[in-house]
Amino acid sequence: MFDLIIVGGSAAGASAAVYAARALMNFKVVATDLGGEVALSGEIGNYPGFNETNGIELSQKFADQMKFNKVDIDEGVTVYAITREGNAFRIVGKDYSENEKVYQAKAVLLTTGVHPRHLKVPGEKELYQKGVSYCTTCDGPLFRGRVVATIGGGNSALESILMMSNLAKKVYAINIDAEFHGERVYIEKLKTLKNVEVISSAETTRILGEGKVTGVEYKEKGSGEKKKIETDGVFVHIGMIPNSTIVKDLGICDELGFVEVDKLMQTKIPGLFAAGDVANIPYQQISIAAGQGVTAFLTAQNYLNQRQ
Ligand SMILES: Cc1cc2nc3c(=O)[nH]c(=O)nc-3n(C[C@H](O)[C@H](O)[C@H](O)COP(=O)(O)OP(=O)(O)OC[C@H]3O[C@@H](n4cnc5c(N)ncnc54)[C@H](O)[C@@H]3O)c2cc1C
Repeated sequence: MFDLIIVGGSAAGASAAVYAARALMNFKVVATDLGGEVALSGEIGNYPGFNETNGIELSQKFADQMKFNKVDIDEGVTVYAITREGNAFRIVGKDYSENEKVYQAKAVLLTTGVHPRHLKVPGEKELYQKGVSYCTTCDGPLFRGRVVATIGGGNSALESILMMSNLAKKVYAINIDAEFHGERVYIEKLKTLKNVEVISSAETTRILGEGKVTGVEYKEKGSGEKKKIETDGVFVHIGMIPNSTIVKDLGICDELGFVEVDKLMQTKIPGLFAAGDVANIPYQQISIAAGQGVTAFLTAQNYLNQRQ
């Protein structure tokens, strides 16, 4: 029986883990990997203490700091269920070899982040990693000098378009809405880019290609007319879905699946906490996730002290 299991080992999980280790708590981190979305964040210039870094480097620093503090980590274990067992929790996962791993803990901190939303159109699944990508930071360089389409209208899509405008010959920016919804500075920059063609009010209906992407079909919202463009790659950035299915039966998520927490990162179930992007708090940023991880740990520590 652990005092605390931290599920997830990235910004929120790692910051909580460092505090827990320094408090000599009986705890463990269980995580699919130690990178999460931080590792996919590309260039990072807004994390305190670093003028310039990138997602891979920063997530490695988080992992190094956990190792320096001798945090007990089960890396490579994906949790698929968290249930209540008396006044404790049962956490069940599988490792890379599909071996079941079962843990018991008096308290659980969920820091599982989010994953990209899919378009759910024909061709998307079939052509995934054959031209379809959800991570421009990771796969953008594969399309140097080629033609790509970015689908989406928020900050992630704008970041994707700006990055690809430097790498690709041409970028189609397909947005289902009439306007982009993102940081003003990105939207203004977009207007200056000569190799970007914005296709707005356009609903993507199909990814075209056999064995590899050759184009995108979309429907003009006003006329209903279907049109096709030729592309080598498609970057899908249409929002994020919280990794919260493991607690869906506990009734702690909002209608979008984010875990509902109060300002101390407590869910409505005593002993169950959430922090970072998976929590229903606005502004998904690394420094925010790290801060929430610390708050959640300190609240969990109080909870454990009071129940012993
Ligand atoms: C393209 C992009 C660019 C970004 N750029 C920036 C930026 O410049 N600056 C900034 O501050 N933020 C940026 N962000 C946001 C930032 O990445 C997130 O806010 C941050 O990663 C949230 O940290 P987290 O710890 O909540 O989740 P994550 O970093 O996603 O970590 C989730 C952790 O949970 C684990 N996990 C998930 N499910 C399970 C499971 N079932 N079982 C076990 N473990 C599990 C993962 O392996 C991982 O360890 C960017 C995001 C994206 C997508």
